[in-house]
Amino acid sequence: MNPITKTTCPYCGVGCGVLVERDADGNVSVRGDKEHPANYGRLCSKGSALAETLDFNDRVLAPTIHGEAVEWDVALDTVAARLRSIIDTHGPDAVGFYVSGQLLTEDYYVANKLMKGFIGSGNIDTNSRLCMSSSVAGHKRAFGSDSVPGCYEDLEEADLIVLTGSNTAWCHPVLYQRIVKAKKARPEMKVVVIDPRETATCDAADLHLPLKPGTDSVLFVGLLAELERLGAIDRDYVAAHTDGLDAALHHARFAAPSRAAVADRCGLSADAVDRFYALWAGTERTVTVYSQGINQTSSGVDKVNAIINCHLATGRIGRVGMGPFSFTGQPNAMGGREVGALANQLAAHMDFDDPAQIDRVGRFWNSARVATGPGKKAVDLFRAAGNGEIKALWIMATNPAVSMPDALNVRAALSACEFVVVSEAIADTDTAKFADVLLPALTWGEKDGTVTNSERRISRQRRFLAGPGEAREDWWILSQVARRMGYAGFDYNGPAAIFREHAALSGFENVGTRGFDISGMATIDDVAYDTLAPFQWPRPAGTLGTLRRFSDGRFDTLDGRARIVPVDPRPPANGTDSDYPLVLNTGRVRDHWHTMTRTGKSPRLAGHIAEPFCSIHPDDAARAGIEDGELVRLHSRWGRSVLRVEVTPTQRQGEVFAPMHWNDRFGQCGRINPVVNPATDPISGQPEFKHTPVRVEAYHPAWHGFILSRRRIEAGDTGYWSRAIGRGFWQMQIAGDQAPADWATHARELLCGVDANAEWLEFHDKAGGSYRAARFVGGRLESTIFIGRDHRLPAHDWVASLFGVDRLESRDRNWLLAGEPGPGRKDAGRIVCACFSVGINTLVDAIRDDGLCSPEEIGEALKAGTNCGSCVPELRRLIAETTA
Ligand code: SF4
Repeated sequence: MNPITKTTCPYCGVGCGVLVERDADGNVSVRGDKEHPANYGRLCSKGSALAETLDFNDRVLAPTIHGEAVEWDVALDTVAARLRSIIDTHGPDAVGFYVSGQLLTEDYYVANKLMKGFIGSGNIDTNSRLCMSSSVAGHKRAFGSDSVPGCYEDLEEADLIVLTGSNTAWCHPVLYQRIVKAKKARPEMKVVVIDPRETATCDAADLHLPLKPGTDSVLFVGLLAELERLGAIDRDYVAAHTDGLDAALHHARFAAPSRAAVADRCGLSADAVDRFYALWAGTERTVTVYSQGINQTSSGVDKVNAIINCHLATGRIGRVGMGPFSFTGQPNAMGGREVGALANQLAAHMDFDDPAQIDRVGRFWNSARVATGPGKKAVDLFRAAGNGEIKALWIMATNPAVSMPDALNVRAALSACEFVVVSEAIADTDTAKFADVLLPALTWGEKDGTVTNSERRISRQRRFLAGPGEAREDWWILSQVARRMGYAGFDYNGPAAIFREHAALSGFENVGTRGFDISGMATIDDVAYDTLAPFQWPRPAGTLGTLRRFSDGRFDTLDGRARIVPVDPRPPANGTDSDYPLVLNTGRVRDHWHTMTRTGKSPRLAGHIAEPFCSIHPDDAARAGIEDGELVRLHSRWGRSVLRVEVTPTQRQGEVFAPMHWNDRFGQCGRINPVVNPATDPISGQPEFKHTPVRVEAYHPAWHGFILSRRRIEAGDTGYWSRAIGRGFWQMQIAGDQAPADWATHARELLCGVDANAEWLEFHDKAGGSYRAARFVGGRLESTIFIGRDHRLPAHDWVASLFGVDRLESRDRNWLLAGEPGPGRKDAGRIVCACFSVGINTLVDAIRDDGLCSPEEIGEALKAGTNCGSCVPELRRLIAETTA
């Protein structure tokens, strides 16, 4: 029997358990772990495709200094010496760490200990700042600690689920599937989706509220006022367990004097607001889920508290099937919060505002240098790196040159910073290019540790692969640098020792006053750590974990009472701008993760959406003279992108959506974050990714084209290009402002066609502006290029199938040059079902010709939607559109 490793998925905060099996030839397969309580065996399209992402082709294999490979000792000595010299000359605040929710808790713990405990600065922040820090601050204001009260079971037990600022179907797919399954079993369960866009999540909605961007606080402040009007406030609960209701109600009555006023401010119909308020007020078992749409705004903390207020005012918290529920973005965003890797926290949920806690952390670590105040949050950290305040920046497991807002200035800051260290697994990320010292890190499958998911569940990530070259664990790299800087307390022999220390700190002098307590794990031995089963914190000694928090009405504040926080709704920081009349909202797509360093390697994931794009409403498109499928330029006061446009009525008028994933490895100008404004929430410091004023204009290059090639092609600065991996080939979309003097020569240069053994076939219609060529080696299609005058090029998904043919006969060659599939071949269209590679044209034909009218019927006929289920909302939409 092949060895099976139980581990967890490295993508989103659902934290699904996966089983990894390796056969005798080393081939890896991945499936869901039926015993893991996050997913009970389910995986989404991204988790299902993990085995496609394990190659070492693009890895950092050795430490480098200014691009030259060096021994580990040289690299570590260099990092330690430069940090030491900068600290000695300019003080500890002249250095900063920017870490990541992709790190394991043990890595995170050592990074935070080194910076806050021994270097003595608060300047360590994590990319969780970009996704969850408003929830952290909202939780702390309301509960006295950063605690998610509920658990995933509540999603199945609720009678009403409100999903606000969350495209759950695409961003937390397995939780979405759990909701859909529960609703199927209990059709009386209601789902409300609050989102300016009509996303795939709306497939499960009984009610969709497409509110005006940025007005979520108005809706929830209005709900609090309405709960009072309807007599739905639980006065006994409020009196026994909370403070602040009267002040919050006073503000709510002023901000939302009536349901009609709320409807008007939110751009909703009065009827929709009435229905939502009546449902919420009348349903005791209500879970309100919120995610980046709430957090990533300049008033995200207030929005979080506006939601929590309604649950506290009705006592709907800490009990089965109810509560506010923040879905975390990253696999270990929560772990980072637990170890204090946010700049404004100490370790183990302790805080800078209490000198006793600073002292406690110092005594535990046996350090007299513990930072005494918060450091710089992400946006300010990079600003400080740009203006010389921070002279050394160490970036671990994240790609801020792509993911930070105002990304052009972030790149300028990385260029300007005196000393940049990057610990990274992937060699050519946009950020790695700025490294003075690049350190090869291990990644998923190659290292051991723990992660915490959205329901406070700590699970093991386990190693099943040897890492490539000289790559090492992040905790090891950090400990080595710490020791070379002369700090004691970094002599760990493995992640289990770090986990024990982390657990011990959580219980150190904790007399029930700090919610995060896993001291029951402080003495586990290495074997118990290896076999550790998932559990939910708190887990003090003598307990097995905690399903729900605050069930007894006692919170983590000093007096044990929750705070209902008065909220005055505020508009977005950069609200309106007459030169930039539309609002950009950024987010994720179904089959990609963050900056695509892993998902970009998977042909089946890349097949769903292969090109950076933006979505725009038909009326806005008509006003700008834009046609579906062409290229557009997206401008803001901060930067510019070039994207393929999707014109769709699912987009609210006045808004543009664009995904966050594309970067320099996959496109020339597809990065969206240069366009995004750098405004932040004043409390959490979380950037406002959901609201940037923009202008969209048509971009009409002189020529358009596509390339499919077995070799990765470098298109250079053509004006526009994007690339995606396919099965055995790369595909590129290209366009340019100037046509080359001679396409035949240019195509040969592009496709590396000077090989004497290669055969060429060409077709050139100079008058019509089209050129097609194909290059064959040994009878096999090696590469092909299609050029035309505009974006209406021949469909080309069928061309991909030719790369699976060993010898292309002359009939197929002729059809290829003709730009048509020819008899017996069909263009399947872009992939909708990633698990079984079912294309959109295949689906539409089957719906139309075979009369398939439900996802179940499609599943039976084509298998689409029958594995992970991530494409089911899209199947339902295709059925509706095709039959209409
Ligand atoms: Fe991974 Fe998908 Fe589960 Fe998220 S929902 S943890 S991406 S399998």
